[in-house]
Amino acid sequence: MFLRGSKDKGIPSFGDGANTNAIIYASQVVKTYDTGTSKVQALKGVDFAVQRGELVGVMGPSGCGKTTLLNCLSGLDGVDGGQIWLEGKDLAKMSDKERTTYRARRMGFIFQVYNLLPVLSAVENVELPLLVSGVGSKEARTRSIAALERVGLDQWAKHRPAELSGGQRQRVTIARALVNNPALIWADEPTGALDSKTANEIMGLLRELNEREGLTCVIVTHDPGIGDRCDRVVRMRDGSVVGETGPRVIAEAEAIAAAAAAAQRELVASR
Ligand code: ADP
Repeated sequence: MFLRGSKDKGIPSFGDGANTNAIIYASQVVKTYDTGTSKVQALKGVDFAVQRGELVGVMGPSGCGKTTLLNCLSGLDGVDGGQIWLEGKDLAKMSDKERTTYRARRMGFIFQVYNLLPVLSAVENVELPLLVSGVGSKEARTRSIAALERVGLDQWAKHRPAELSGGQRQRVTIARALVNNPALIWADEPTGALDSKTANEIMGLLRELNEREGLTCVIVTHDPGIGDRCDRVVRMRDGSVVGETGPRVIAEAEAIAAAAAAAQRELVASR
């Protein structure tokens, strides 16, 4: 599944088979935290690739490196080894400013904690990042209302977070993550603070956005119910990727098995 990049040019071979549409392509990522008194190797040479339009879960026991992986691959945190390409761009070759701009324009983030400003209404919270990045107030408002529509919350645009349920608040953060029309959404335990029914609804919304709009999404979760609804689940343990499961993995395996069986039949028939 994972294809190594061209060492000569320092870019991944996107023209190759499975990685034609790779939006994230990471090779041998190493991250060590040094607290002064101790060193923790949180990522021990992780390979990770995501195709455009995939909904990928990252699962594993607490402390195995899921959040670190998300932070490193999105460029929020630096790495100590390995290479990361996002949409074919080498993260290491970007300046801090380029990385920040790229992140603001091409990525959206959803966290377990909503990080909504209590004094602002839903629409004001959604438009804040646009205003900060210099978008005019009229355009920011139009785009924010449209983002709230995408998550089914336009009727609640004028309400403040305290007047919204947990699920509605998380929908506001999803609208805020979508408002820039990012290429990629990173979600870190997006349903961790929600009851199971609401968690299911939020996952349903992410799935719907993925299927309707082709949204690419990487979801860190410990909830097997969320993992079951991803195309693919990458499993981590102790700083390493230890396997993959999920409907897409099974479908790919079945397609390979079917092709092998067909080739076998052809061979027998030709004898
Ligand atoms: P997960 O998201 O799977 O729970 P994390 O990525 O948060 O795991 O953590 C991976 C390992 O790195 C853990 O051992 C954790 O204690 C350690 N760690 C995470 N962040 C820091 C940090 N800022 N400083 C030191 N150690 C850290």
